[in-house]
Formats: sequence, structure tokens, C-alpha cells
Amino acid sequence: MDVRLFEVSPRDGLQNEAAVVPTREKVRLIQALVASGLRDVEVTSFVRADRIPQLADAADVLAALPESSDVRFWALVPNTRGFERAHAAGIRCVSTVLSASETHNQRNINSTVRESLSALGRILSDAKAEGLRTRAYISTAFGCPYEGAVDPSRVVDLALALTAAGADEIALGDTVGVATPPGVVDLVRRLEAAGIPPESVAMHLHDTLGMALVNALAAWQVGIRSFDGAVAGVGGCPYAPGAAGNACTQDLVHLFEGLGAETGVDLDRLGEAGLLLGASLGRTLPGRYHQWWAGRRPTNGARSVG
Ligand code: MG
Repeated sequence: MDVRLFEVSPRDGLQNEAAVVPTREKVRLIQALVASGLRDVEVTSFVRADRIPQLADAADVLAALPESSDVRFWALVPNTRGFERAHAAGIRCVSTVLSASETHNQRNINSTVRESLSALGRILSDAKAEGLRTRAYISTAFGCPYEGAVDPSRVVDLALALTAAGADEIALGDTVGVATPPGVVDLVRRLEAAGIPPESVAMHLHDTLGMALVNALAAWQVGIRSFDGAVAGVGGCPYAPGAAGNACTQDLVHLFEGLGAETGVDLDRLGEAGLLLGASLGRTLPGRYHQWWAGRRPTNGARSVG
């Protein structure tokens, strides 16, 4: 595998949807994603059910998934309680999240960045002591909806602290979708200069301004080989006109396969997973490759909402 796609639709996609998808449909989606060749899938978040009711069934989803030696199922653990629940549910791979900007962290996680860092540091070191795989998201790594530009040296400092605490991988989140290629290249190079090589960094891009693929290409050119995607580009707020979601996994596969890099993902099978998700949500999903593919697909009578 030359490029690793890290699928976030069951977590990052569904948490932003008004609809609550039944557990069995989530499990079917995750199985379809795995059948397409994806080997890293973030399946849920152990967040408080009153905060994100869409993911209240985290332990049930995990329990319904088959153990597999070659597929990594990830869960986001926003805090210590979430980590305890995920651990009790038998998770092997955990991700944590904080924001690079103070205001976004306050609004999203309700604590200061310093408080988050110390809480997540304990989770990451406990997770490593238990032999788990770990990743740490740094949200608003390229810009904050409240504060605007984010100082890249702040992101580097956070990445160093999270790595020292036990993060195997840093996922740089372009939460607002405002990154541009020079900013991506600059941050990757700064991290490398500080001792965090591109192999330990993943890009979590958003397509709000249509820049996800350009930024992915820029990151690939400076050595990044791990990219987060959501099938069919799910993840934007359906009630915010013009808002776009996560980088569409099919768009990323199409880009990298076009560059001659192997992803291990079958685009037709991934498209079918996207149709399943569209049917669960009852709407047409925005990903560009997904819409193009769905439009060309033989309909043979019954056609799913996709
Ligand atoms: Mg996202």
C-alpha cells in the first residue's frame, strides 16, 4: 500500500447528521467500507450521549464488528470517561482530539488547550501502556472559525507534546477547510524539522472551499502518505448552505491511483458503501467522484438514494 486512507465517515460523518442512523445500518456501512479495501475505519466516538445522540450506541457498534487481524477499528475518545468506556468495550485503537486555537477548543471541548493537553496526555500514555494504537487529532491546525489564522509553531508544539505523551500519529485537521498548499507544505516541513516525520502525520482535510484535493496533493509531494476521508464526502452540516464535508474518500482514491500510488481500495465497492450511507441518511451525498460514479451506474430498475 503506497497511500493509506483512514475512513472517518461512521464517526465524523454521522456525528454531523441530524438523523440518528440505526446501529445495524452503521454496522452494515462499516462492513461495506472494509469490503472496499479500507483497513483503518474510525467507527464511533465514546462521547456523552446527551452531547452527540447520533453516537450513543458506540459500545453496541463495536460489539457487532467482527475481530479482524488486518482491519483497525478506531474510536474517538474525547475524555477520560470516554477512554474508560472504549477500553471496556475492547477497542484496540484510540484517537484523541484537541484544537490548536483556544476559542475552538473552549467551544468544542469546553476546556482550555492546556487542560486538554494534560488530560489527553494521560489518556495517550495509559493507552500505550495497554498496548493500544493511538492517534491525536489537532483541529483548527490551519485556521480557526473564531480566531482566524493559527500560528504553525503552536501546532508544532502541540504535536511534540502529544507525541511525547504517546501519540503514534498526529492527524492535522483543517477543520474549517481554509488550508492552502503553501501552508500545508510549511507545516509538514516544520514538523519534520522538529522531529516528527511525515510517516507519523496524517492529513484530515475538509472540502469547504474545494481545496481538499489540492492540499492532499501538496501534502503527498512532501511525503505524507496517510489521508483521512469520508465516503461520498459526508460530514458537512446539511442545514448550512454551501458547507462541504470531509475530503471524499473516493476523490482521494481517484487522485492517488491517478498518481500511480496504490491505495488497496476498490472504487466500485466504495461507491456501493456510499449508496448505503445515502440511503440511511435519505439524501444525495455531496462527494464529486461519488455523484459522477452514481450517475453512470446501471440502474436496473431499483435505484438507491445516493
Ligand atoms: Mg472532519
